[in-house]
Amino acid sequence: MTEVHVELLIAGSCRAVAGMAVAGEGLGPTDFPALVAVIRHPRVGITLFDTGYSSRFDEATRWFPQRIYRWVTPVQLAPEDTAVAQLRARGVSADEVGHVVISHVHADHVAGLRDFPSARIILSPKELPSGWRDRSSWSQLRHATLPGLFPDDRHLRCAVESSVAHVTTGLPGSLAMGMDICGDGSMLVIDLPGHTPGHQGLYLPHTQGPPFLLVGDACWSRAAYTETRLPPKPVQRFMAEPTAYRAVIADLAQVHRTLPEVLIVPSHCAPSIAAARAELASA
Ligand SMILES: [Zn+2]
Repeated sequence: MTEVHVELLIAGSCRAVAGMAVAGEGLGPTDFPALVAVIRHPRVGITLFDTGYSSRFDEATRWFPQRIYRWVTPVQLAPEDTAVAQLRARGVSADEVGHVVISHVHADHVAGLRDFPSARIILSPKELPSGWRDRSSWSQLRHATLPGLFPDDRHLRCAVESSVAHVTTGLPGSLAMGMDICGDGSMLVIDLPGHTPGHQGLYLPHTQGPPFLLVGDACWSRAAYTETRLPPKPVQRFMAEPTAYRAVIADLAQVHRTLPEVLIVPSHCAPSIAAARAELASA
């Protein structure tokens, strides 16, 4: 059993209508934090789960039609909030980050990616199918992909073609298998499709605190798997695969019911992040 050390950072946030994440929550604005998990493994070193926002989001959305992206998701980010700046403040250089697991390719998860040029990127090939860079700018907007946020294709190609063993996770339903990226069962990448075709999460069975299940945007709020309160139907229709999205949330609800010790952390659920940080602080 290899234990990893987890720290949760917030690398910027975006403001959106609360009722977008949970039906019935109204039209008031709320801030959705962009979570970055820093995972320290005794042999492998530092892995990030997602990279949050960076100033590249501003550059990549300067011109129309990409500018619509920043109108829809207005971002708040101070220079010291980026993942690379927060790591530097902890004495960690960008080159010390050996792996970056990307849940999916939306800007709030990948805008900091190019700040970690030495990292092996672990990303589902379904997220960036061949020819994705040739899409029109309107098609990129529809997919919510900003090519300027990604390193060159050679770097990305290595990452998506990397082969790793699949092992059982001990989790129910479609979460039962995971990619064992360290070869010792300590970090298991799990497919959580629906929000995007190749969306994935990261399961950490042994940490300095409870087991962690980082679920990215598989759901936006803990209300989804604790009370079956999903985003409104029109918002669900924007998901790449709405049926898969709902099936994954049903599996997360089963984890919540049958394995209450597992801490499920959606990337944009501020109360979940606060609760997880409190658990880590008391560990
Ligand atoms: Zn997101």
